[in-house]
Amino acid sequence: MAGMYLHIPFCKRRCLYCDFFSTTQLHRRQEYVDALLQEIAERKEEAGEPIRTIYLGGGTPSQLDSIDIFRILRTIGTDDAEEVTMEVNPADMTKEYLRELRQCGVNRLSIGVQTFKDELLQLIGRRHNGIQAINAVHWAQEAGFDNISIDLMYALPQQTRTLWESDIELALRLGVQHISSYGLMYEEGTQLTRMRDKGELTPVDEDVENEMYDYLCKRLKQAGFEHYEVSNFALPGRAAQHNSNYWNHTPYIGIGAGAHSLIGNVRSWNPDSLDKYIRGILAHSLHRERETLGATDIYNEQIMLGLRTNRGVEEAVISRRYADPALLLEMEKDQLITRTAGRVIATQKGLHVLNRIIEKLMIDE
Ligand code: SF4
Repeated sequence: MAGMYLHIPFCKRRCLYCDFFSTTQLHRRQEYVDALLQEIAERKEEAGEPIRTIYLGGGTPSQLDSIDIFRILRTIGTDDAEEVTMEVNPADMTKEYLRELRQCGVNRLSIGVQTFKDELLQLIGRRHNGIQAINAVHWAQEAGFDNISIDLMYALPQQTRTLWESDIELALRLGVQHISSYGLMYEEGTQLTRMRDKGELTPVDEDVENEMYDYLCKRLKQAGFEHYEVSNFALPGRAAQHNSNYWNHTPYIGIGAGAHSLIGNVRSWNPDSLDKYIRGILAHSLHRERETLGATDIYNEQIMLGLRTNRGVEEAVISRRYADPALLLEMEKDQLITRTAGRVIATQKGLHVLNRIIEKLMIDE
């Protein structure tokens, strides 16, 4: 089986913390969709396997009309697809739009809620408010969506533990099946980082951020969610198949500007420029960068992706490639990892410093 990721890079306006590839040139949506349709038609058989998961991510896919979503999904063909996810912005949601998405074949929504608190949403430059976020979930449920994920952010400036806990409680009351949750990152070059550097806002203390994360993990576990990846929580049977496939090295075809593909051991990626992408596709001359993954790349990827999940990485994989067995013992002694049934898994304490654990276990060429 294979997956297909489609990148929809349009945003009505940029959020202050965002460093993703996206553009506010909304007037170019139609030519972009035309290019997408052409690329899908040319590449949909590339993995040599049926496409079981489809993911429309962004940017903001809900900046496209439902007729364009319909054209995209019809061109891919959804007969074999078990999971068709679309990221949506609460500010774009209407009852009618959600009904149309369901009719088009979208069967899973990822709603970019981030927080239900209006002051915090304004502070990070989101265009929706808390009521719109709540309505988006209710209306999606009314439209027949029974597989809904919401994104929640913690460690936002001015977000107290009480505010964070009330966001989690509200998410649980809404009855969603999946929650993805990320701590705010101050990425280089973003407006939020400039505001921090000028002293216009105070980042949340690292200990408080860790407490917020621990609370999230504990509360969602109590509510019956499985913590299956460092940032992802799902009710039984509702883990995101598409994202889980990334972690399992399942082939995927990336369509659209900036999208990455992995077929066998070859990774390739489209240019992350709207102009280059549209011109290249329409002229049948798009240049895709590509690299063939060697044994070290594959090992590093297993470490990087596997340790993020609750299945961890096979100890044998690490032992075969990693020269210093003392390191695992040391990490175990520091309670950063456990070794269970032949697998190395990050502990809750280890999840706080996961990037450092991963860096230590990765190897240079
Ligand atoms: S909507 Fe998403 S992609 Fe667009 S600017 Fe905001 S965070 Fe970035």
